[in-house]
Amino acid sequence: MEKVTIKEVSKHLGQDIQLQSWVFNFRSSGKIFFLQLRDGTGRLQAVISKNDVSEDVWKVCEEITMESSVIVTGVVNEEKRSPFGFEMQVKDIKVLQVAEEYPIAKKEHGIDFLLDNRHLWLRSERQATIMRVRDEIIWLMREFFRNEGFVLTDSPILTPTSCEGTTTLFSTEYFDETAYLSQSGQLYLEACAMALGKVYDFGPTFRAEKSKTRRHMMEFWMLDAEAAFMQHDENLKVQEKLVSYVVVNILKSKKKELKLLGRDTKFLEKVKAPFPRMKYSEAINKLHNLGSDIKEGEDLGADDETMLMKEFDQPVFVTHYPTKIKAFYMQPDPENPNQVLCDDLLAPEGYGEIIGGSERIWDLKLLEQRIKEHKLSQKDFEWYVDLRRYGSVPHAGFGIGLERTVAWICGLDHVRETIPFPRLLNRLKP
Ligand code: ATP
Repeated sequence: MEKVTIKEVSKHLGQDIQLQSWVFNFRSSGKIFFLQLRDGTGRLQAVISKNDVSEDVWKVCEEITMESSVIVTGVVNEEKRSPFGFEMQVKDIKVLQVAEEYPIAKKEHGIDFLLDNRHLWLRSERQATIMRVRDEIIWLMREFFRNEGFVLTDSPILTPTSCEGTTTLFSTEYFDETAYLSQSGQLYLEACAMALGKVYDFGPTFRAEKSKTRRHMMEFWMLDAEAAFMQHDENLKVQEKLVSYVVVNILKSKKKELKLLGRDTKFLEKVKAPFPRMKYSEAINKLHNLGSDIKEGEDLGADDETMLMKEFDQPVFVTHYPTKIKAFYMQPDPENPNQVLCDDLLAPEGYGEIIGGSERIWDLKLLEQRIKEHKLSQKDFEWYVDLRRYGSVPHAGFGIGLERTVAWICGLDHVRETIPFPRLLNRLKP
């Protein structure tokens, strides 16, 4: 008997096949059982008529509960009236395990209950669909960088020091030393760029941020990209090309999934490079005109970003932030050293920052001076400073947060649904 997945049934119409699946719903009308099956690749209704099966098979059906695991044998045919498009007439059924009473019923549950049961909640059609879109976004990003000639050089997760300040670091024992979980792979990636030219990394990053917002997690996935000889303008071009590539392709390859999520894609369909650019000073003026009381020199908060983006349906770059509120390694603007050649890419529809990038300081003396000004340990950054001692070149790069990108593309209210097991403030389980 051929084992077939639900996704493949259309190629086996009229044949005897076997499906290995779970029962996500069922009902009976006395003489007929309707089992709704899922196997990870799709969903399908299977029908069992009392008159067509043996008494033993009928008895098995009566035992079935929601989420029981079953192996079903039968014939699949097209069924226009079914939402699944196909239906199986069952000949035989074997129950692998009769599930206990399933805690996630059809009724509405609160978010805490669902997060406590994340290991089960993931089985819901909506959550599984989000995971499929996430998977596709990851592949598209990787494909983009491969096409553009970037080499994957992953950065370490256990690090001896921080990339940007120590207040948001998770620490752990590393034999008789302390190690910190990486907040960003950037500094290591700069070293790789000096070896390979164009590089990227993609991995989990950790920030002990006491922020309980809809876009912060303690563990999230970031893709950093870095290129030697790349400067500010080109850096922005790579970012907008990447984001356009992901959005244009996801609208084609995951159309069905986005529809299932109820995503109105009219804004996504407009995403096309080049994206509007705005200097920080312009952003502040605009915000003041819109009624914000943000002060010159302050970082944009989530509310400011949302307010600023109201009149845009494309992602927007905010560039040239004040030097004093940005990281030590950012290259000053030659026309105004009080600002740096950096950018945040803000997604429309209230999603806010999804990318942070900058040109990096490549002058030895200036970098040493910045390390002092930021009261960072010279010793810890010795290897990083070395990159400016041995064939230093201008270079730039950026980091894109996967979960914020997934939340935006799927149109979700919160990043917690974009990762299989979210790590949030006060939530480490399951
Ligand atoms: P924010 O100001 O919103 O906290 P950031 O300026 O600290 O973000 P970067 O250090 O520039 O962010 O990190 C690059 C990208 O990583 C961000 O644009 C965002 O997409 C993502 N990111 C940063 N922090 C988080 C977090 N706590 N949870 C999820 N994604 C994050």
